[in-house]
Amino acid sequence: MLLVEAGKATGGSTALSGGVFYAAGTSLQREAGIEGDTPDAVFQYYMTLNQYKLEASLVRKLCDDSPAAFEWLRSIGVEFRVEDLYMSGVDKVRRGHRAAGGGLAIAEGLEGSFAGRSVDIALDTRVEKLLVDPDGVKGIMVDGQPITAGATIIATGGFGANPAMLADIYPDAARHGDLHWYIGANTCQGDGIAMARAAGGQLSTPNRGLLLLTPGFAKDLESYLPGWLVMVNGLGRRFVDETIEYSVLAAILNEQKDHTAFGIFDETARLSSRTTSYRPAPNWTADRLEDFISAGTLAKADSIPELANHLGIPADTLQTSVARNNANAETGMDRDFFKPSNFLRKIYTPPFYAARIRAAIICWTGTGLRIDTDARVLDAADRPIPGLYAAGETTGGMFGECYASGGASIGNAVVFGLTAGRHATGANS
Ligand SMILES: Cc1cc2nc3c(=O)[nH]c(=O)nc-3n(C[C@H](O)[C@H](O)[C@H](O)COP(=O)(O)OP(=O)(O)OC[C@H]3O[C@@H](n4cnc5c(N)ncnc54)[C@H](O)[C@@H]3O)c2cc1C
Repeated sequence: MLLVEAGKATGGSTALSGGVFYAAGTSLQREAGIEGDTPDAVFQYYMTLNQYKLEASLVRKLCDDSPAAFEWLRSIGVEFRVEDLYMSGVDKVRRGHRAAGGGLAIAEGLEGSFAGRSVDIALDTRVEKLLVDPDGVKGIMVDGQPITAGATIIATGGFGANPAMLADIYPDAARHGDLHWYIGANTCQGDGIAMARAAGGQLSTPNRGLLLLTPGFAKDLESYLPGWLVMVNGLGRRFVDETIEYSVLAAILNEQKDHTAFGIFDETARLSSRTTSYRPAPNWTADRLEDFISAGTLAKADSIPELANHLGIPADTLQTSVARNNANAETGMDRDFFKPSNFLRKIYTPPFYAARIRAAIICWTGTGLRIDTDARVLDAADRPIPGLYAAGETTGGMFGECYASGGASIGNAVVFGLTAGRHATGANS
């Protein structure tokens, strides 16, 4: 077996990731005293969260096979601890299994599992295209040379590092031009998607992936904005509990006027702003915020109407929204969006500030090759292309507008990676 890797080391985005694996019915859940959670419950959760606009057969496979894939990861030495099991979705069950050592530990565990097997690894080697004949895919082309194989598995990850492909098949991610940036591996340029499409492979529903919100202060990964921030849309209205999970925030923000929100706060908030270990946001400190005023990425005004005029949003509505927020903060009850009371702050003491918030951090991409439940790549007529399999972020169909949970993407890579491997080697036949 030959593994060809474009980077100088294996690991890709997996090695950079948080290493969370989403699953129900695992040994770790039982160790934590969580009984009765099932793949069926996860299937219902995934499907209803995205209004059933997913490939149900793939989601079913992902949910059903995730517990066994998780046990397999444990069996190859990836460590998971009860204290790292948490609620990573917008559901209410602890299903996010975070590997001790993060994604790097998973990547190392996977490479370690090759020990004793006949696997050659070619690093720093980029596959350019597939070898195709009328009977299907017969291998790959590397450095202009053909390498033949009975089966080829594409596991080249996503395409977040390819601006042209983002503009083409993930327009939500490309909409804000230079503001957007990708946190994954720079070798993840969608090569596998391009190669398989050139060989007749079909693309899943476009415009899928996970975007995080950013004020555009700096290209630092801050998965969460401060909970005390009050966001209004271009109409001057609040539209969401600002503290809800990142997995659904981007989809809600992108429904707003100009796909933009304005994070409003006052001088008291700026002066007391601290980063926390719970949800680190190192750019949201009093001094850093001063820097962003000078840099022009944070607006400042002496009154709310002046701030509204500066932002180009209706001053009257913004004043109403601020007054309503202040009444909520005073009573300790958000009567509009039910944000937890510990995050409620008045916007009262001038000067007032506003950051333009957009969904522009690309965490991973969710559009890719259409596969069947055996991980075979499908052609335009929904037929498997002989000899061609795909797994992980290079595939699509399992994820909708709302990312169900932290851990679903690694779950997808491991479940369908194992499936592709078994079918490609004939272990399942
Ligand atoms: C910072 C960060 C945190 C994340 N946290 C989580 C998390 O906690 N849980 C979760 O579920 N998801 C998370 N994700 C997403 C998740 O990590 C990825 O979706 C998943 O790991 C993708 O796995 P993969 O095997 O498909 O691709 P990758 O791990 O990216 O591997 C693809 C490999 O293919 C190689 N490659 C690309 N093109 C070629 C080519 N032409 N020839 C040869 N090799 C090529 C790349 O170099 C790379 O090594 C996170 C992502 C990031 C960036």
